[in-house]
Amino acid sequence: MIVLKERTRPVRIAQLEALLRRIPNQHEKVPNIKKELVRRRVGYQGEQSLNYYFSFLNDPQMFMLHDLRLLGSNRSYFQIDTLLVSKSFMTILEVKNYSGSIYFDPDTYQVYRTSTTHDDEILTNPLLQIQAQKLQLREWLTANNWPLLPIVKLVVFSDPSTKIVSTPNNLQLIKQVVTAPALLSKVESLQSTFSKDYLTDSGLDKLTQQLIHMHVPPPPSDVLHDFRISATTIISGVYCPSCQRPTLTRGVVVGKWFCPDCLISSKHAHLSALEDYFLLLNHRVSTSEIHAFLQTSNRQQAYDLVNKLPLHRVGAFRARRYELMYPLSMS
Ligand SMILES: [Zn+2]
Repeated sequence: MIVLKERTRPVRIAQLEALLRRIPNQHEKVPNIKKELVRRRVGYQGEQSLNYYFSFLNDPQMFMLHDLRLLGSNRSYFQIDTLLVSKSFMTILEVKNYSGSIYFDPDTYQVYRTSTTHDDEILTNPLLQIQAQKLQLREWLTANNWPLLPIVKLVVFSDPSTKIVSTPNNLQLIKQVVTAPALLSKVESLQSTFSKDYLTDSGLDKLTQQLIHMHVPPPPSDVLHDFRISATTIISGVYCPSCQRPTLTRGVVVGKWFCPDCLISSKHAHLSALEDYFLLLNHRVSTSEIHAFLQTSNRQQAYDLVNKLPLHRVGAFRARRYELMYPLSMS
C-alpha cells in the first residue's frame, strides 16, 4: 500500500481554533464552538488512528488517496475520505467514529445507536453517503475514459470497541461495514474476490495521477455565519507566540514584531494573523485591510509585509487585493 495523497488536518479545525483565539473568552458562543472543535478533533484522530491498520497492507500495487474532492458530472463536487485503487478494483472508505452499538436497519435504511451515554439515537447512514459517492465516481471514470473497475463501499468504524449489531436481516448491509482492526482481513478478502485486472501498471499510475491532479480543495466554510458572529467581534492584531495575546507591535525592533509585555521579538508572527484573516474573514485582502487587521503603524508597513509574500495579486494600484491562503508560508 502506497499513500499517494496524504490526509490533511481539516481546515474547519483551524477555523474553530482561530475563532476561539479571536473572540472574547466570555462570548456566548464559546461553548458551542468548543463543542464542535472537540467533535472534529476526535473525528480527525479517529481517521489518523487508521494509519496503524493501513500500515499492514503491504501490497505495492495498491494506492491510497485521502481527502479526494472531484467535480462530478452534475457540476457539483463529491468528496471521498479515503480511496484505495488497484488494477482490479477501487474501494471507497468512509471513516466514522461512532461509539456504542450500531444497528443498520435493512428496511428503513436508518442507523440506530445505543450506548451508555445516549438513548436510542438515529445517525446519518454512511452507506447512503458512499452509495452517492460510488455513483459519482463511476460517472467520473466514464467521463474520463477509464474502464469501469468494480467499486467497493466500506464504512470503517475507527473506534475498535464499536459494536456492529448483526441480525439475519441485515447481513448484506453489514458486509459493507468493518471496525478498524478488521480492515486488513477485509481488504485481503476483496483482493481475492476481485482478481481480474482492468488496468495495466502504467494505467494504474496514470489513473491515480489524474485523480490527484483533478482534486479541488474545498473552500473554507463561513464559520462566522455558522455561529452568527459578526465580523466586528473579531479581535484584530498580531498575537504574541509567548503570551498568546494580540500585543505585538512593529517599530521597536527593526524588521520584527515586539511584545512589550514579554520583551520578545518575532519576525514572522504576522503570518498566522493573516491565516486567521483568511480562515475567519475573507480570502482576499487589500493593503488597508491588512493595515487595520495587523494594526501596523501605517499602510506602507502593511504593504511591505504583504508584498514579500508569495501571494497571487488581483487588480492594480489602489484596487489591488491579495489572495490569501492556508497554510501560509514565506516561500
Ligand atoms: Zn507577549
